[in-house]
Amino acid sequence: MEKVIIIRYAEIHLKGKNRGFFEHALATNLEKSLKGYRHELHRLSGRYLIEKFDETRAEEIAFRVSRVFGVRSYSVGYLTGSELDEMYAAVRLVAPETGSFKVETHRGYKQYPMTSMEISAAIGGRLLSERKALRVDVHTPENYVYIDVRERGNALVFGSFEDGEGGMPVGTSGKGLLMISGGIDSPVAGHMMAKRGLTVELLHFHSYPYTNEGAKEKVVQLARLLSPYTQVTELTTVKVTHIQEEIHRKCAAELNVTLLRRFMFRIAERIALRRGLSCLVTGESLAQVASQTMEGLTSSNAVVTLPVLRPLIGFDKEEIIERAKKIGTFETSILPYEDCCTVFLPEHPATRPKLDYIEREEGKLEIEALVDEALGSVERITL
Ligand code: ATP
Ligand code: MG
Repeated sequence: MEKVIIIRYAEIHLKGKNRGFFEHALATNLEKSLKGYRHELHRLSGRYLIEKFDETRAEEIAFRVSRVFGVRSYSVGYLTGSELDEMYAAVRLVAPETGSFKVETHRGYKQYPMTSMEISAAIGGRLLSERKALRVDVHTPENYVYIDVRERGNALVFGSFEDGEGGMPVGTSGKGLLMISGGIDSPVAGHMMAKRGLTVELLHFHSYPYTNEGAKEKVVQLARLLSPYTQVTELTTVKVTHIQEEIHRKCAAELNVTLLRRFMFRIAERIALRRGLSCLVTGESLAQVASQTMEGLTSSNAVVTLPVLRPLIGFDKEEIIERAKKIGTFETSILPYEDCCTVFLPEHPATRPKLDYIEREEGKLEIEALVDEALGSVERITL
């Protein structure tokens, strides 16, 4: 008998060639997420099994698995032989001592000499006679014992199904560049797109020395919190200080944010194209702040040709916060550091600026030179 982690994945949309592609990506991502842990990953009839790991680290490994997109559910349990005695030895380890229970048996191997009902009855009976404080309840048991009889004399025994993240394995839907700030929204946006299978690389703009090391460290921290989901281990940063100073010096104050955002999009697109990424991702949500009006979004879109994915576009702040808490980024996001967007923030940002007005103001700047200069400040931080 050996402790294992059983991993089940969504099969609904897995047909023909897609299936191999999906399974291969999932296996690759599981391997990546378990880097540094001794283990073996095997396929067993439509599931993955993690075996041969240090059993004292089972929880850590299960936690990592719980973050991998494409995993529908998982269980920590045992791989045993399929003789009743062997299965029972594992059942004793997962079954409760008191309260009500039910044994649920599934036979993937139909030639097994007993039916599922017979196995459940035999195992349940033994457990009852050994543990006097237990009782059977087949309708609403407090605990389950699951037995899954597989081919080649194998069985899996476990006590619960834990929810996985669901979604598609990262890497099965192309690649994009997430513009990540230190705020609440963008990490959530990155999580959502990675869940749909997008590889999400990370780009952060800073305005050192107006923004400090603490602000950058916060983003690094957020990127680290995202990496179990995204499998991405690098953060790119770009300095936009000079751009902000130029905008501040030469253009209408009410357009500060609008103009900075256009520069961010241009720079992001240049980096994305260089790296073969095919979309940009932001944490924008319609009408959340002055720059996220329809006019604001249009003005940013107007300077790029790559699609801009905004998965939070229809979300309330409360819904975003709820997600941020669930994925574990919220506490870090609310640490008090300044984002570059808040430097030189005008008192009254324009909410519905017209494109020709924006372009007129922007015409006062050396756009290409400023973009090139910013691109020269690219840093790549290993997380
Ligand atoms: P967030 O909580 O993600 O910071 P927000 O509601 O504060 O979002 P803005 O600050 O206007 O809104 O930013 C909108 C989006 O622009 C962010 O979600 C993010 O994708 C991008 N963005 C903003 N600031 C930065 C930055 N310093 N570096 C990279 N991207 C940024
Ligand atoms: Mg922000």
